[in-house]
Amino acid sequence: MAYLKNVLSRKQTPQSQPIPGTAQGPNSAGGYTWHVDDWTRLNRFLILGCEGGSYYASAQKLALENAQAVIRCLAADGPRTVRTVVEVSEAGRAPKQDPALFALALATTDHADPATRREALAALPRVCRIGTHLFQFAAHVDGMRGWGRGLRSAVAAWYAREPGEVAFQAVKYQQRDGWSHRDLLRLAHPQADPDSSLQTVYHWITRGWETVPAELPADASLRLVWAWERAKRAESVAEIVALVREHRLPREAVPTQWLTHAEVWDALLDDMPMMALIRNLATLTRVGVVAPGSDGTHRVLAQLRDEKRLRAARVHPIVVLGALGTYRQGRGVRGQGVWTPVQAVVDALDAAFYAAFGSVESTGKRWLLALDVSGSMGCGQIGGMPGVSPRVGSAAMAMVTARREADYTIVGFTSGSGGLGGRWGGGTPGLTPIPISPRQRLDDVVQAVGALPMGGTDCALPMLWAMQQRVAADVFVVYTDNETWAGDIHPMQALREYRDRMGIPAKLIVVGMLANPFTIADPNDAGMLDVVGFDTAAPAVMADFAKG
Ligand code: CA
Repeated sequence: MAYLKNVLSRKQTPQSQPIPGTAQGPNSAGGYTWHVDDWTRLNRFLILGCEGGSYYASAQKLALENAQAVIRCLAADGPRTVRTVVEVSEAGRAPKQDPALFALALATTDHADPATRREALAALPRVCRIGTHLFQFAAHVDGMRGWGRGLRSAVAAWYAREPGEVAFQAVKYQQRDGWSHRDLLRLAHPQADPDSSLQTVYHWITRGWETVPAELPADASLRLVWAWERAKRAESVAEIVALVREHRLPREAVPTQWLTHAEVWDALLDDMPMMALIRNLATLTRVGVVAPGSDGTHRVLAQLRDEKRLRAARVHPIVVLGALGTYRQGRGVRGQGVWTPVQAVVDALDAAFYAAFGSVESTGKRWLLALDVSGSMGCGQIGGMPGVSPRVGSAAMAMVTARREADYTIVGFTSGSGGLGGRWGGGTPGLTPIPISPRQRLDDVVQAVGALPMGGTDCALPMLWAMQQRVAADVFVVYTDNETWAGDIHPMQALREYRDRMGIPAKLIVVGMLANPFTIADPNDAGMLDVVGFDTAAPAVMADFAKG
């Protein structure tokens, strides 16, 4: 009879089988879960991307599956697809623009109807906010369709802006993915008045400046271009510094041989955009502009602590997390040399991570934050950020809620060898309270979680543990890739039992940390919600859901 036990039970089903009467299907790990709808999948793709692949699939395989999901969205509702892409992009909810640019490019192809294609092309300036985005879009679209009139007009329209702004784009964002402004202008042929400054800027981009005048041009829109041309020919640090200070020349316009001088970086710091600042902290420290107590450090700290500027620059928290991880180590991943990290900068990055999410008020609820620390969570990179695996990323995400709420418990769960005969070697089966707290610095939190032993996956463990320990929780948050397989009971069934036995109408929020289609959240249970890991909108959505 043992083999008949639980086969048809809707109360307790092993995760290796679907719950009878539901729409569950197999995940990649030998377990059964629900599949999220294509709109949730689209959000997962736009926000998490699929760089680095996963434990179960290569980056190419994941990318193909996500592309197919985007195509299904386009077929179901093209305008909604384009709106979603624009919304995620404009709100700065994703760490990288690349998935949005890819999806937007797809929306200009035969996979979309003509009206959707027009909307996608009209949305070009909203998603491609800087030259680099336009180049990335061009690289995607180039492989998907021809350069017909609609596409060429849309690119031409992108260049129909203030001549000084076009010049700035050309000086700061010179090329990417094999595309440059010259390539695009030659394809798109934007029309400008022959005698206008705009036409002069177009001409300079496509043909260059044959003889650079010794004097500053009268036409204001050409001054940045002139300064760049002078910088190429500069012979002293003083000359470069003067050009940077007088014409707000960006770092990209300074020839590399001058970028080893502290004076040059000191001048650049005045107008450095927030994202560039975060990316160049190591260099600023290496050349000595940022040093303990220095004037440069004070200016850097003032910027990093400016929440308004952080949000206005759409700095994504994961970019800050990545920068924190690299900066504190004092050595670069890709030959950026070595530096001595300044402690105040490390602390400011820690604070900037939370600030980048914006503020959400405490809900007063009891939260159980459960991190899937199984083996598969160590694979892949969220938003293509080196060092930020789903496992590490989920710890950082949990800190955002823990820092806000007074009543929270953080646990990690892994199934150890599980029921499949020692498939996993290490790991303590069950659930362990993790000694991490938002009062610790994020890099320490991430290290502590990274060092936990890994095992198999059983996403029902948080609910079973809370039931056994009589832990009262209003909200279970499970941070996972949803590749659960090891338990004797499905997570949703465990939650139902928890509700019954504890008399608490507990909710479940699944924070999906991978752009796959799986979820442990029952779509027919209004007390369960899917959000996307590292969506900057997630903390507010989670708080609203918890409050009811
Ligand atoms: Ca796993």
